[in-house]
Amino acid sequence: YCAKKSQPHLVFYDKAMSQAAELKLQLINNLRHAHSLKQFTLAYQCIVDLQTNQTIAAEALLRWQRSPTEYYEAANFISLLEETGLIVSVGQWVLEQACLQAALWRQHHQSTFRVSVNVSPLQLEHVDFIEQVINALTMANLPAEALILEITESALLRQPEQARATLNRIKALGVSIAIDDFGTGLSSLSRLGTLPIDSVKIDAEFALRLNEASGQKLYNAIIQLAQALEINFIAEGIETQQQKDIMTGMGQGFGQGFLFGYPSTVEHFTQAFFTQKCLA
Ligand code: C2E
Ligand code: MG
Ligand code: MG
Ligand code: MG
Repeated sequence: YCAKKSQPHLVFYDKAMSQAAELKLQLINNLRHAHSLKQFTLAYQCIVDLQTNQTIAAEALLRWQRSPTEYYEAANFISLLEETGLIVSVGQWVLEQACLQAALWRQHHQSTFRVSVNVSPLQLEHVDFIEQVINALTMANLPAEALILEITESALLRQPEQARATLNRIKALGVSIAIDDFGTGLSSLSRLGTLPIDSVKIDAEFALRLNEASGQKLYNAIIQLAQALEINFIAEGIETQQQKDIMTGMGQGFGQGFLFGYPSTVEHFTQAFFTQKCLA
């Protein structure tokens, strides 16, 4: 106690540390019950064809309504779900929900509509993953071609040969594979060309630099790489018309970002993209 008293900064630091640790424990504790309390929901964000402006798909993004006043976006708690392993069961729920919703949208609004679902490395490595994908599709009566699974570069690096085998099995089902946050990881370009990948989602970080000539050159190089490998691109984080115009000039591809739509509830998404007449 005496030693601490003579080092006030250390005491303060300790306190701040333990408070942060306690908050994190509380958060984890709450997360453990969030699923059974039905506090998770999905927000959907449109993915748009840059040439035709048509909304062709939606990405499902996890949301946590922790209390009536606390609504969290995925960025704030996904890492905790991964740390605790909870992402495996929550991720399965996400997959099932998104497939059910996609089936409804296809049935009632747009028969070719697709849904894109984020997959954590832990899910991809799980022995039952392929079975879970098949179950989700079967339960929703959704054709495999309507589903896109988003996988990060880091997930492919952890156990490359196991990941390759899993991707091949996903592909054999007819499900598409997108590499998420493309350009921020360390994937080997030579390996990328040998994996059954349908598209790369170019990280929003690159869109931020489009106002500089060097940023545009870099963007163009990424798109050309994708084209050389015969892979589609989805430009993430498009917030301005200027960014969109630059990308549209670079080639046939897709875009996602606040310019086209914010992540939103099923009701809002349906109204905004399928029943526009009602808004007029
Ligand atoms: P992501 O897959 O790259 O998703 C895009 C993130 O960028 C989302 O954040 C979205 O809200 C945000 N965003 C969309 N358009 C724009 C834009 O124009 N500008 C900016 N600045 N941001 C934009 P969110 O929902 O917080 O998700 C963060 C990350 O959490 C996701 O990144 C994804 O990696 C992960 N995630 C989300 N839902 C799930 C899920 O169900 N399962 C797993 N395993 N991961 C998920
Ligand atoms: Mg994603
Ligand atoms: Mg992304
Ligand atoms: Mg991203």
